[in-house]
Amino acid sequence: MQFKKVIGQNGVKEKLRMAIRENRVAHTQLFLGPQGSGALALAVAYAQYINCHNKQEGDSCGTCPSCVKYEKLEHPDLQFIFPTATTNKVSKEPEASKFITEWKGYFLQQKGYVTQSGWYEYLGLGGNKQGSIFIRDGEQIVRNLSLKSYEGGYKVIIIYLPEKMNLQTANKLLKSLEEPPDNTIFMLVAERYELILPTIRSRTQMIKVSPIEKEILKQSLQAKWGESISSEQADSIAFMSNGSWNEAIEMVEQADESQFNFTKFREWMRLCYAGSDFYSINQLVQELSRLGKEKQKQFLVYGLKVIQNSLLVNQQLNDQVMAMADEKSYFQKFAPFINEANQSEMYRLVNDAVYQLERNAHSPILFTHLSFRFIDLLKKGRSRLVKR
Ligand SMILES: [Zn+2]
Repeated sequence: MQFKKVIGQNGVKEKLRMAIRENRVAHTQLFLGPQGSGALALAVAYAQYINCHNKQEGDSCGTCPSCVKYEKLEHPDLQFIFPTATTNKVSKEPEASKFITEWKGYFLQQKGYVTQSGWYEYLGLGGNKQGSIFIRDGEQIVRNLSLKSYEGGYKVIIIYLPEKMNLQTANKLLKSLEEPPDNTIFMLVAERYELILPTIRSRTQMIKVSPIEKEILKQSLQAKWGESISSEQADSIAFMSNGSWNEAIEMVEQADESQFNFTKFREWMRLCYAGSDFYSINQLVQELSRLGKEKQKQFLVYGLKVIQNSLLVNQQLNDQVMAMADEKSYFQKFAPFINEANQSEMYRLVNDAVYQLERNAHSPILFTHLSFRFIDLLKKGRSRLVKR
């Protein structure tokens, strides 16, 4: 992975390059950045740069023997440690070395932009299962340190999510982190500083990675999707994704679904507001009932978002409304009808409906019931508005 493949983060990149130029690369570094900021990608790019045989101005060459191996994460002097758990394949004593093929596959698929939940999903950990960094991983590191570097360059050990290290593992590593052998660099890549054991934290030099700048996110979205994403869409997504490349990608990928929820919810509210076209209401209820349970839930959760944002608009907190431009203009128009006459009832109604769907409610009845209640509640909201 070359620096140029890491989105934005120009300030950090420059700091890292400077450390090499001035020959003061710290032997134990903590890359601390929120999910989607690219902290791991940066660490790998840095490691590749340090070991590049033919360093270019500001980046690794990408073609020397070391870079070629690094690009595939196959360099013998690069070791990864990351959280794991038992799976169908490894039913006992999990540790990173047993999942290295999966890890490389996942990292390369994500172009370095990995997430904790994405990794667990890739591993096939069901439900709420979490990974850990085990004492066996600590022992593996210590064994590796006792070996000489294969290719004579720097040996790099990257520990992804040191937050997941238990006390036992940490104790095993304290001495190595404190004083690694010559030409050995530890790079810890973390998201939550407060969850890292203090004994580990105190042995590292921190490199802070910030959320990606909005303008750079926008450019990267347009570079990835070209014509299929409008400048205005890219703008809104860059704004809503909190500087996370992963969130931004997810939003683009779910754009069709979001568009469906938006269009249908707006149509539903218009029909309920008019309150007389029962044929169309019934058509819509049928259409919603044919969606899968998950989609129905997401549709209603979207409804909650509409109500919440309408309340923000009513309180003149427009700058807190996180939405695409067409949604925003809809919230502006819809908000006046959500007022003290009906707001809490509307919210409770939709929230309860999500709960009932989870309990396998019969969806045609549920959506019909909601429609009648909305007709009623929107009438109340309208008469309150007229009275003002
Ligand atoms: Zn190179």
